[in-house]
Amino acid sequence: MQKLPRSMQLLVDRLSDLPGIGPKSALRMAMTLLKWPEDKTRGLGQSITDLRDQLCICSQCAALADTDPCSICSDAMREQDKLCLVSEWDSLLVMEESGFFKGRYLVLGGLLSPLDGVRPDSLELDKLRENLQSGQTSEIILALGTTLEAETTGSYIKNMVEKEYPHVRVTRLAQGIPLGSDLKFMDKETLKQSMRFRQNI
Ligand SMILES: [Zn+2]
Repeated sequence: MQKLPRSMQLLVDRLSDLPGIGPKSALRMAMTLLKWPEDKTRGLGQSITDLRDQLCICSQCAALADTDPCSICSDAMREQDKLCLVSEWDSLLVMEESGFFKGRYLVLGGLLSPLDGVRPDSLELDKLRENLQSGQTSEIILALGTTLEAETTGSYIKNMVEKEYPHVRVTRLAQGIPLGSDLKFMDKETLKQSMRFRQNI
């Protein structure tokens, strides 16, 4: 059987690592890239390089950003006393797209899942403590979804805050969210309502 040229095989292997892309689709993609005008193909390569070179992680909220601190953390007009905890950066994007939350965020970098080895020290809890130590935050809003991992993470954070910063209120999005759902799949109106009717936990 005819083997793929080495550089082509390498690209196909890398593309196959992407979610939802099998070897056949990867080969089709690689063929398409070859057919593109050279500057377009090189431009795509450059975008991938830039992704690593020009993005940074905000030292305050742990979101991906162009600058550190990010545009949200450096915006003095945002409500400094409300801190919304999300599991991943894409949940922050969903919240921002909805446009109703004017406080700040912290991206935890996952949810507790002892079976998968995700323990408290894997999450950005030190950043949370730093934030709470600054004394500006009076309310933490958990926007973690309603999965089992979200519940576990929420309880852990609630206990930690209650013990170390008892004056800080911990709330969660209202339970209108269907059980087992991930925040990033919620529609804008549901999300808005669940923020409006958020509850103490
Ligand atoms: Zn930030």
